Amino acid sequence: MDYVLEIKNVTKRFGDFTAVDSVSFDVEDGGFFSILGGSGCGKTTLLRMIAGFEIETEGDLLIRGESMKGIPPEKRAVNIVFQNLALFPMMNVEKNVAFGLQRQKLPKPEVETRVKEMLERVGLVGFEKKNVNDLSGGQRQRVAIARSLVLRPSILLLDEPLGALDRKLREHMKIELKVLQKEIGTTFIYITHDQSEALVMSDKVAVMNEGRFEQLDTPKNLYKHPATSFVAGFVGENNEFDVSGYADGELKTQNGCRLIKQGLDFQPQKLFMRPEAFILNPSEGLSDIQLIDMRIKAILFDGSNTKISAIIKESNDDVLISLPQNAEFEALKEGDDLKVGIHRDDIKCFRR
Ligand code: ATP
Repeated sequence: MDYVLEIKNVTKRFGDFTAVDSVSFDVEDGGFFSILGGSGCGKTTLLRMIAGFEIETEGDLLIRGESMKGIPPEKRAVNIVFQNLALFPMMNVEKNVAFGLQRQKLPKPEVETRVKEMLERVGLVGFEKKNVNDLSGGQRQRVAIARSLVLRPSILLLDEPLGALDRKLREHMKIELKVLQKEIGTTFIYITHDQSEALVMSDKVAVMNEGRFEQLDTPKNLYKHPATSFVAGFVGENNEFDVSGYADGELKTQNGCRLIKQGLDFQPQKLFMRPEAFILNPSEGLSDIQLIDMRIKAILFDGSNTKISAIIKESNDDVLISLPQNAEFEALKEGDDLKVGIHRDDIKCFRR
């Protein structure tokens, strides 16, 4: 396997505090790899170590098989796009993109050719002479990416580059970035606290928590087969319950809801059920599906994301249920009783 980056037991301590705790992973060449985690989990520190702005306390990292020990940032085949983009405000688009090449003292015709090619690739032809301050947020984003990619790095590091954009533009840029990465083929390592960004764009996602990787997997597997309760709670919406006991194939939530789940070989402390896993008014007698009596607290209308906030009658546990896009359920209202089905495989249990 061709790995563009290999991280081997990398730890970073600031005094007594361990920001990155013995992390190991490999990144395949040409992929879109995301590091996803909440504030303070260590993702920026990890990115800064790859770029060479921070030096690891222990462990090693290799780019294209070569150890980066003692290699300064400017000698590493990586480039970084920051959240604030750090464009040169007094320069036009063309000059921003050309800057790094000129600093490398490349011949003028080569600089011109490479800048032209890059602006074509990111869809900025016609904007060459525009000042970067006169561009939209999305266009500025593309200038920042072009300015990095024109230097032909092995890896492009992206530090929450969509964080400062408004929601609509962010949604649009997610798709643009994914398509751009596939077209260009440069490895992207993208850090974000936004799970939807990570899921939509990435080939692989590492979920980080307190300096460690909880799970490194494809977006689909993270969602469908979370390895830990942290991942189950962090990736996608989920209904989380504390479990007070498990005996004879029956789980009991802290508040007293009973659920059938055969064959667990451990005592779980947490269980999760996705909002879309619930089946409204299922036919009776379906195998492996149990029925739960609920009452609707509120209908949370949000177009195709409409949900029902409900309580389980037996325990008063709160649950969120996705409402199918189906006229049959449009008449539902607050206070209605519901029979809700759940397949036993859709009850995910964890030790802690
Ligand atoms: P955010 O999304 O908020 O930027 P993050 O996951 O990127 O969070 P890091 O910036 O990597 O988190 O920080 C991880 C931890 O290390 C934090 O608790 C932070 O306070 C600490 N830390 C980072 N840099 C330093 C430093 N130079 N000195 C001391 N502590 C630091």
